[in-house]
Amino acid sequence: MWGVVNQKGGVGKTTTAVNLAAGLAMRGQRTLLIDCDPQGNATTGLGLDKGKAEATLYEVFVDAVDNPDDPKVIHKAIFPIAENLHLLPATLDLAGAEPILMNAVGKELILRDAIAPVRANYDWIVLDAPPSLGLLTINILAVAEGVLVPMQCEFYALEGLSQLLKTIDVVRRRINPGLKVAKVLLTMFDPRNRLTQQVTQEVRDYFGEKVSGIVIPRNVRLSEAPSFGEPAVLRYPSSKGASAYFEFVDEVIKECAAR
Ligand code: ADP
Ligand code: MG
Repeated sequence: MWGVVNQKGGVGKTTTAVNLAAGLAMRGQRTLLIDCDPQGNATTGLGLDKGKAEATLYEVFVDAVDNPDDPKVIHKAIFPIAENLHLLPATLDLAGAEPILMNAVGKELILRDAIAPVRANYDWIVLDAPPSLGLLTINILAVAEGVLVPMQCEFYALEGLSQLLKTIDVVRRRINPGLKVAKVLLTMFDPRNRLTQQVTQEVRDYFGEKVSGIVIPRNVRLSEAPSFGEPAVLRYPSSKGASAYFEFVDEVIKECAAR
């Protein structure tokens, strides 16, 4: 179970989460994607009409807070998207979850409890984080085994990173001892940009072997696909962007099998 986390917006979290989840599913891994961002971009990006969702992550949180012994809403909130690919959607309602979590006992662990009933049904769970280090993201860090950090190759890429790493460290210390940075993935890579090489080097110096050897190029197919309600790996599987995500998926599967 990986959280796709970076408190910066627009760095490719959602694009990575949906293409990773769909790619894993296409490789035969039973996969659940959980949209943890009130903006619901992963939800629309997978083509789920928000009006159609019977329940969303917001109701799942409320249920888990109210019925800690037997949360049930999760079962009707999960939506089948494609073979091996399920989605737990989010809408703007989710913005109202933070105050509810805030007042709950064990506020960092509500997501963990909420998804416990379905966890064993999946080989992979991918969590798409919102662009903040608030309580939703802490709930992700408290349940995930690994953190996948997408980074856009731009001048300010490393800015704010120490705050993210500090947060991961505190969560590991107090809540989730197994938590680790699993991968750093360079996104929107443009080799023609002079800054790209420099930033890439800085990120590699900082994170070493955690940085994936695969880089995701800037590719218009990746940004177009969500408007058709499909991730690029499904809509444009032979595009450069999708190919890079397939390579990344294969790297992830291989490394996790080797462990
Ligand atoms: P985040 O979830 O971190 O806010 P997104 O995945 O939504 O970031 O990406 C921000 C914007 O950049 C979106 O419009 C998305 O379609 C676009 N985008 C993401 N990755 C790429 C890429 N590799 N090439 C081109 N556009 C991209
Ligand atoms: Mg996003």
